Amino acid sequence: MDLIIIGGGPIGIACGLEAQKKGLSYLILEKGPIVNSLFNYPVNMQFFSSSERLEIDDIPFISKEAKPKRNEALEYYRRIVTSNKLNIHLFEEVTAIRREAGGFHIGTSKAEYHSGHVIIATGFYDLPNLLGVPGEDLPKVSHYYKDPHFYASQKLAVVGASNSAVDAALECWRKGAEVTMIVRGPEIGTRVKYWVRPDILNRIEEGSIKAFYNSTVAEVLPDRLLIDTPDGRVELPNDFVLALTGYQPNFAFLEQAGIDLSEDGKKRPHYNPETMETNVPGLYLAGVICGGMETHKWFIENSRDHARLIANHISASQKPTSSEA
Ligand SMILES: Cc1cc2nc3c(=O)[nH]c(=O)nc-3n(C[C@H](O)[C@H](O)[C@H](O)COP(=O)(O)OP(=O)(O)OC[C@H]3O[C@@H](n4cnc5c(N)ncnc54)[C@H](O)[C@@H]3O)c2cc1C
Repeated sequence: MDLIIIGGGPIGIACGLEAQKKGLSYLILEKGPIVNSLFNYPVNMQFFSSSERLEIDDIPFISKEAKPKRNEALEYYRRIVTSNKLNIHLFEEVTAIRREAGGFHIGTSKAEYHSGHVIIATGFYDLPNLLGVPGEDLPKVSHYYKDPHFYASQKLAVVGASNSAVDAALECWRKGAEVTMIVRGPEIGTRVKYWVRPDILNRIEEGSIKAFYNSTVAEVLPDRLLIDTPDGRVELPNDFVLALTGYQPNFAFLEQAGIDLSEDGKKRPHYNPETMETNVPGLYLAGVICGGMETHKWFIENSRDHARLIANHISASQKPTSSEA
């Protein structure tokens, strides 16, 4: 096989489309359903990009509003996979990549493969940044927000100050949850969508949503939280905790594949931005995984071209040189 693409998210699918156009033999391996990360997004989530900026391979994305909803995106990417008959295995997790003669050996939860080239397009949504406090493993704590109805009439603590935390706090408050935000810094994130930020600031100002700034969770207990605030430790009666403190790529998986990561704390993987090839010849990165810990740097809008760069590089490397011709 010429190419194995690890990850069936929007960018992995874009890589499959480009490989198909170049006549490369390829297979996409996805550990969950099509666009698994988007499937795990909040049910009412609306993209901050307009639909044309989420398009891959110039395939039109028609949505009800300018900014599409999660369900519309699921439908769009699913239809691209089915209508183009992309070669994809779902619910098959890649567990190991090893260089071998003529390419790579790929081990998965179901089979073994050999491939001349590999693309890692595994995103960053699978590993949450943990709080690292006692009680974080209690069932009342989640790092993924799904549906506001679940928290109606409950005492909900939302940890974080980014878009995900703010969206969850506002939605759950509007469904009747008693919401308290726990913010490590002095304010709500300045990267929060400009059309949403005034809403949360007004809710906090008027006291509808409580907020502890410059504060952190010290411990999670079954019926309350211990919070360290500038005024000392506070006990907060509590039913549920949404710890929306961001996510990170699976660095162990990248290192196991031989990819170098920057040592400046940002763990940026090493790759050539013109070809997306890593320090391991024949091994490429595509999509939001390219940012390492800087998960705000890359998104669908600005990483969808990775697919074209890689397919061009692979097919150029397969063309016989003039001396071979
Ligand atoms: C709440 C939220 C809102 C966002 N809004 C926008 C927006 O408006 N505009 C925008 O451009 N971007 C937005 N983004 C960012 C963007 O949606 C994602 O980052 C996007 O999913 C990136 O696509 P990807 O294909 O690189 O990664 P992903 O979509 O994360 O796909 C990676 C895939 O790899 C699979 N995978 C992981 N490990 C393995 C393995 N070992 N074996 C097999 N499969 C594996 C995963 O299951 C997943 O399906 C948003 C992100 C979030 C969280």
